[in-house]
Amino acid sequence: MKAHDGMYIGGAWRPAAGKDTVAVVNPADEQVIAHVPAGTAEDVDAAVRAARAAFPGWAATPPAERAALIGALRDVLAARKDEIAGTVTAELGSPLPMSQMVHAGVPVLVAGSYAELAATYAFEQRHGNSTVFLEPVGVVGAITPWNYPLHQIVAKVAPALAAGCTVVLKPAEDTPLTAQLFAEATEEAGLPAGVFNLVTGLGPVAGQALAEHEDVDLVSFTGSTAVGRQIGATAGGAIKRVALELGGKSANVILPSADLAKAVNVGIANVMSNSGQTCSAWTRMLVDAERYEEAVTLAAAAVAKYVPGERVGPLVNAKQQARVRGYIEKGIEEGARVVAGGPEAPLSTGYYVSPTVFADVTPEMTIAQEEIFGPVVSILKYEDEADALRIANGTVYGLAGAVWAADDAEAVAFARRMDTGQVDINGGRFNPLAPFGGYKQSGVGRELGEHGLAEYLQTKSLQF
Ligand code: NAP
Ligand code: MG
Repeated sequence: MKAHDGMYIGGAWRPAAGKDTVAVVNPADEQVIAHVPAGTAEDVDAAVRAARAAFPGWAATPPAERAALIGALRDVLAARKDEIAGTVTAELGSPLPMSQMVHAGVPVLVAGSYAELAATYAFEQRHGNSTVFLEPVGVVGAITPWNYPLHQIVAKVAPALAAGCTVVLKPAEDTPLTAQLFAEATEEAGLPAGVFNLVTGLGPVAGQALAEHEDVDLVSFTGSTAVGRQIGATAGGAIKRVALELGGKSANVILPSADLAKAVNVGIANVMSNSGQTCSAWTRMLVDAERYEEAVTLAAAAVAKYVPGERVGPLVNAKQQARVRGYIEKGIEEGARVVAGGPEAPLSTGYYVSPTVFADVTPEMTIAQEEIFGPVVSILKYEDEADALRIANGTVYGLAGAVWAADDAEAVAFARRMDTGQVDINGGRFNPLAPFGGYKQSGVGRELGEHGLAEYLQTKSLQF
C-alpha cells in the first residue's frame, strides 16, 4: 500500500527526525503492507511548534470560515470513501462492507455535523450583565486507537478545528495509513498549514512525548484504561486539560416484557460488528431467569451467522488475538459454559478469534468484569429488576448500554438508573450529535455534538 515516509507537519510531508519505522501488517493475512516512520520526541516537538505557530491565525478565523473548511474536509472524505474503506480493511482487517458503511461513512457524518456546529454555535453568549466568550483552548495533542481508525481521529480533530484549536495527532501504530490519508484530506480541503499535524509512531515514544509536551494545552486520548490513567496523571501534574475515552463493559438489559428475539439478535450484532473491538459494545447480556435458556439458544443461533473471514474480520494484531483467547480460556476456567465458539483459532492464517458466547456467567467472573475487546458475549441471569440494575452497574466501567422493554417508558425508567454515559432504548439508532463518553472509569469528557465541541473551548467572561 501507498505510504508517506515522512511526517505531516506545518502543511508539508517532512522527513522524520529518526530512521526507525513501524511495519503495518494486514491482520487478515499477516503480510506487511507498508512501513511508516516511527516518530521521536523531536518530531513531536516540530509538530507542536507548527501547531502553536498556526494557532493565533486559526483561532481568529471567523467561525463561518472555519465551518466552510470543515465542510470542505467532509467533502474530501466523502469523495475518497472507497480509498478510505480499502485502507481501513487493509490495516484493521474489517470486512469491506463494514469499512465502507461505518469506518468511511461515519466520519463523513461527524465532520458534517461540526461544519454545521461551527457555523451555528454561540461562541459569544450573554448571561445577565456579562458577555461570555467561548475561546479555543489552544494546541491539542490527540492520541487515537486503532479500532475505529478514522472515526476516532475525526471525533477529535473536527470539534477541535471548529473550536479554533490546532492539532497534533499521534494515531495508533497499527493503523497509521488511515491517518496519513486523513492528513492528505486536510491539505486537499485547504486547511491552513500547521492547523493539523501528524506524527506517526509508537505510544510510549511519540505518544508519551506528545502527552508530556509543555506547549500542548489539551490532551485528548482514546484507548486503554492503563495508558489513560498515566496520561491523566501527567496532565494533572501540568494543570492541563485532558479528555479520556477509555474502556467499557456495557450491559444489554433485556427486561421481561421485551421482544426477546429482537433484543438478542441486535445484541449479538452489536458485539460482533468490528470483531468485538468496540469500547461501547454490549458485551454483557442480562436476561431474566424465566427466559434465560431461550435467550442462550437464540444467541448461539445468532452468532453462527458470524463466520470468521466472511462477516467477521480478524482482530487487529497477534497480541490482541492472544489476549482475547486468554480471556476465553479464563471464562472456561472460572466455570462459564461455552455455547458457541471457544479459544481455538478458527483459521490458520490471520488473527481471527471464534465468535464466542458464554452462558452461566456470574457477575464476579473475570469475563463479566474486564474489557475483552473481542467477539465474546457473556449472558448473565437476573432474578428481578433490582438484581438486573445491580449487575448492570456492577463494574468499574460506565460507557454505554442498552435496555429493551415492551414500551420505551419502561426502558427509560431503567436506563435513568444506570451509571453509564449512553443507552440505546429498544434498539435506538446511532446519533452523531449525541454526547459519547463515560461514567466512572470509562473516562473523562465527552465526544461528538455540541458537548464534544465544548471540550475544546474555555470561557472568558466580561462584566458590564
Ligand atoms: P493503547 O495502548 O491504550 O493505545 C491507544 C493509543 O495510545 C495508541 O495510539 C497508542 O500507541 C497510544 N499509547 C500507548 N502507550 C502510550 C503512552 N505511554 N503514552 C501516550 N500514548 C500511548 O491501547 P492498545 O494497546 O492499542 O489496546 C489495548 C486495550 O485497550 C484493548 O484490548 C482494549 O481493551 C483497550 N482499547 C480501548 C479502546 C477504546 O476505544 N476505548 C480502543 C483501543 C483499545 P500504540 O498504538 O503505539 O500503542
Ligand atoms: Mg499499545
